[in-house]
Amino acid sequence: MKIMILCGHGKDGSSYDPGAIGCGYKEAEETIKYGNLIAKYLRQYASVDVYEGNMYHYLFETGHTYDFTKYDYVLECHMNAAANASGHGTEIFVTTHEKEITVEQAIMKRLSKYFTLRDNDAVFDGVKRYNWGVINAIKTQDKVSSALLELCFITNQADMTIYANSLEAICKDIAEGIAEGFQLSASGSTVKVPSNAPVAKPVTSDKKSIETIAREVMNGAWGNGSDRANRLTAAGYDYQAVQAKVNELYGMPSASKPVSTKKSNAQIALEIYNGTCSDPRWSDWGNGGTRVSRLQQAGYDPVAVQAEVNKLF
Ligand SMILES: [Zn+2]
Repeated sequence: MKIMILCGHGKDGSSYDPGAIGCGYKEAEETIKYGNLIAKYLRQYASVDVYEGNMYHYLFETGHTYDFTKYDYVLECHMNAAANASGHGTEIFVTTHEKEITVEQAIMKRLSKYFTLRDNDAVFDGVKRYNWGVINAIKTQDKVSSALLELCFITNQADMTIYANSLEAICKDIAEGIAEGFQLSASGSTVKVPSNAPVAKPVTSDKKSIETIAREVMNGAWGNGSDRANRLTAAGYDYQAVQAKVNELYGMPSASKPVSTKKSNAQIALEIYNGTCSDPRWSDWGNGGTRVSRLQQAGYDPVAVQAEVNKLF
């Protein structure tokens, strides 16, 4: 897992963008400070690069000169600001192209210990949708999942007092939220999951593994046909995934990946490039470890496919 932390504002080509200013702080200095602190804690779980400066320049003004394809996730760090000093709270943005937001929800759940969550849709999780220039370019050009964090309001004294007093804990929580969202384990941990082993579901419920449920299905515990599908779905399980596991355990070829329809690595690479997926189990091939796992499940060689993807850029 390779993650890039972008520290918003600051050095921008030959110029300097201070970002927002408030309560005696300058945004461009704080994003470097807190971006590096997140990286310090996140390095227990992943390989992390930090970019101190405005990436906008390299994505747009000088052409697409920065390559994000080697990363699995990019977090762009900012502090919010408002003309009215009472504006406060935390929010994180993902682009409208992002299908899964478990990582961002895990970050925000932890940040709600410190700051008020700001939200504008049906799910009150602090995650918003907006195609900000940098994260949108990273997602659409390099197909890498990205998010933009507005940690708190630099113009709000109460927010900044919490920020100053709890900065280490806040950044540790952000790193642990990312780790939880991606199901990463600390390198020194004794519970480290081998890279080729199935990854456990997020610790948000006491759900059983797909295989356990599949075996229950085979023992008749979940009924048949649409009754089975409805009951599994109502219990929070992915019916397609369970059924595929049942077929696998019965030694049947999975209906969703007949050998005869297997595509060439170049065709799969094009699907990755276009953000589509011919395998009905997923709406896209994902990024990073998700992509590797999905390609393997569908019977493709992730290394060979990635080599074809690289040719497209
Ligand atoms: Zn900013």
